Amino acid sequence: MKHFPVFIAVEGRRIVVSGGGDAAVAKLRLLLKTEAHLSVFADDALPLIRQWADEGKLVLHPRAMEPGDAMCAVLFYAANEDAIEDARVAALAHRDGARVNIVDNLADSQFITPAIVDRDPVTVAIGTEGAAPVLARAIKRDLEERLPATLGPLARIGKAFRNVVEALHMGRARRDFWSEYYFKTGPQAIDENGIEAVPEALDALLHTHLTAPEKEGSVDLVGAGPGDPDLLTLKARKALDAADVVIHDRLVTPEILELARREALVIDAGKEGFGKAMAQDDINVLIVEHAKAGAHVVRLKAGDPTVFGRLDEEIEACDAADVTWRIIPGITAASAAVAGIGQSLTKRQRNASVRLLTGHDMKGFADHDWRTLAAQGEVAAIYMGKRSARFIQGRLMMHGADPANPVTFIENASRPDQRIIATTLAEMADALSDARLTGPALTLYGLAPRAAMIALEDLQEKEFA
Ligand code: SAH
Repeated sequence: MKHFPVFIAVEGRRIVVSGGGDAAVAKLRLLLKTEAHLSVFADDALPLIRQWADEGKLVLHPRAMEPGDAMCAVLFYAANEDAIEDARVAALAHRDGARVNIVDNLADSQFITPAIVDRDPVTVAIGTEGAAPVLARAIKRDLEERLPATLGPLARIGKAFRNVVEALHMGRARRDFWSEYYFKTGPQAIDENGIEAVPEALDALLHTHLTAPEKEGSVDLVGAGPGDPDLLTLKARKALDAADVVIHDRLVTPEILELARREALVIDAGKEGFGKAMAQDDINVLIVEHAKAGAHVVRLKAGDPTVFGRLDEEIEACDAADVTWRIIPGITAASAAVAGIGQSLTKRQRNASVRLLTGHDMKGFADHDWRTLAAQGEVAAIYMGKRSARFIQGRLMMHGADPANPVTFIENASRPDQRIIATTLAEMADALSDARLTGPALTLYGLAPRAAMIALEDLQEKEFA
């Protein structure tokens, strides 16, 4: 972030604009929404600005800026549409101690004005650091459609009501109350009987909440997918939206954690394959404790929680404590990895089954299984397979697998830094150590990236012909 968004207190303060043309008008339209005192310096102001001055909305000084004109101003806009004059007045305003914006000159501006969605007192500011104004406008339009115009009045009435609502327990109880007010009771009251009906509806709602029995906590065991936030299910997003507590693995990406409700307590349980981690028992206790305290707990696990996720231990802990739970499946790393190389996990006449293996406890793999896997056409997705690559390679070769069989490592599947390392069984351990993978990686045994695989199959066909 090169620009940090903040909301500046302007009530009763000065904002100064230099310029009287279209650029000045555009800025003034926004500034007129504020409770600041506006001063405009322009020797030739457009009629609209003169009209605003006549109406007492701003003070117009029909001359060019001079030293001291921006004294005590919080913000200053150089809007002369003339680079030399803008530079001159910006320097003056700097000396007067104002924060300076030069219209259409990002580099020399101390702040930028975002695209604004105005539902006063609710305001949404959208900035793209000047990179994509089109995008900002599209987001603004989208939000304006989604946020009802009544949001402003509702917020104003709600604000006056805040003290009374302190009768409800802090945290979840209050949040539920406000959420019902803004998204249900409030809009409904306006629809039916107009804005005057809102305070009474608020009273009634508070009464309902004060007399309602306390909510029980629950646990959602949620698949966060392979890392791309767009690969979250809608159900997972809704769970994150409603979470009081989010307990996540280290593999869950920051982009996904961003989607958790802002007030949610986010706990890093740090489980990542072999990495240093909170002990599973401690995680179980954490989940249960928060749920017992009435929280909606989201246990966020990489990929699909049902695949190498120690899900059952957490479910058993919930059951033992009489905590309700549900599973929200996610996209497992194997699905993201094959997608990344344009393959399918199963294919007619190649493999009718596919194995999901963990390199974690490979040594306990029965010999019988190695022999099955070594057969031509077998496909396996190996999780946590980085450390056991050489072991797996040895066992497969020992059981007669073709050294030319394809092996593909997919690191950071679905993420912008995804890497694909296509190799063969004979080379796999060396290829892996050469690649120096640092992110999570999935090993696909028996699969190569689509183009390479087609070439390989052609070759094999010719060999057999
Ligand atoms: N429940 C998870 C797997 C947890 S085990 C799932 O369904 O995907 C952790 C292993 O998953 C990692 O060691 C790695 O092998 C694999 N993995 C998870 N995310 C991955 C990603 N984005 N790219 C490649 N492999 C990944």
